[in-house]
Amino acid sequence: MALSCHLFLAHGRVCRIRGENLSNQSPFSSATTLDCEQSLHRILSKLECYKQSPLAALQSGRWVKLICGASFEDIAEVRNLSLIYALAGVDCIDCAADGAVVTAVSDGVRAAKEIALDFGYSFRDPWLMVSINDDEDPHFRKAEFNPRLCPSDCPRPCERVCPASAISFSYPESSGVIPERCYGCGRCIPVCPMRNIQAVTYVRNLEKVSELLCLDEVDAVEIHTGQGRLEAFHQLVTNLGSSFDHLKLVAVSVPDLGDSMISSMTTMYESMKPYVKCANLWQLDGRPMSGDIGKGATRAAVILGGRVLAALDRPPGFLQLAGGTNSHTREALELAGLVNNGNESMIAGIAGIAFGGYARKIVCSLLKELEATKSTRLEDHPELLFKSISVTGELVWPMKL
Ligand code: SF4
Ligand code: SF4
Repeated sequence: MALSCHLFLAHGRVCRIRGENLSNQSPFSSATTLDCEQSLHRILSKLECYKQSPLAALQSGRWVKLICGASFEDIAEVRNLSLIYALAGVDCIDCAADGAVVTAVSDGVRAAKEIALDFGYSFRDPWLMVSINDDEDPHFRKAEFNPRLCPSDCPRPCERVCPASAISFSYPESSGVIPERCYGCGRCIPVCPMRNIQAVTYVRNLEKVSELLCLDEVDAVEIHTGQGRLEAFHQLVTNLGSSFDHLKLVAVSVPDLGDSMISSMTTMYESMKPYVKCANLWQLDGRPMSGDIGKGATRAAVILGGRVLAALDRPPGFLQLAGGTNSHTREALELAGLVNNGNESMIAGIAGIAFGGYARKIVCSLLKELEATKSTRLEDHPELLFKSISVTGELVWPMKL
């Protein structure tokens, strides 16, 4: 069903609910309606002003990526996150390399496009990226435990510390870790007094990944790697390289490898070179999966970005920060003198920022409100949709200015 059938508010304050035109009627108070209207128009008009292709955003240092989570597979939430952030103007949406998750992202982006067009604005699709790993990696793990081993008087610190609400003792089918929501941050593991929680890592099936990469919807891939994994990286790229042909971007997510950072990047680049016919990007993963913790979490990514940017012998590729990134990252980049400022040269500055845990945290309470309604489509609750876009726009827009 087209979104216009649900929207109750548009140009000229015409309400359209379930296909009917209901002038001057709204389910909300007029103050709320006005706020929502102004919020949406403000966001969509900003999108009009900064309507660059994702590649141009990289080239001008205005690239923003949403990280849904390499292991996060809550289909309804991935879909709504994609809807919200596509309307807030991100250039790329990075998700788990899973067919159902890819479909959820595409569906969210399609819904965003319908809303933008419905309000009279144009829309450009963000790139869809899937994340894979070459070996054991914290981004590709799930926590698990047997709740029957938990003492009945345990105050359940695991539940309180989980940023993804992935631990529940009242989950309908089972209690314990909800696997599709767990994204492997590991915070629950050390807080368990019974040492009851384990992390289980996994590597995606290469054949399935290869099929995914050939889908029209998939524009980009990101390979997560780490210390001592150059051979595993080489093997993965060799096995998968022929599937890179139609991609627009091949990214490598790499943590701080210390003194071997640049030499490792160079070796990885040599492995990729025969297969990569598009742009390439280095995701500098400062302090993995920590952006929601606080202001200081961003420091590691900015320092790593500065170090790699200063190394003129680094291999080609855009540089983008992740790992600890949050609403303070843009300002920290500016203070460190690392902002590109629209110079279309790859050595001029950091090309952009990816937001993961923090991006999800700032809409978490709104998505919980949606869940309480038993509805899965955010656009069926326009007030929640507008609030979500308004909140996320505050994160995305500073990068677009
Ligand atoms: S705290 Fe992290 S690792 Fe533990 S269940 Fe939650 S998301 Fe998974
Ligand atoms: S902290 Fe450990 S023992 Fe307590 S509820 Fe959580 S998993 Fe069970």
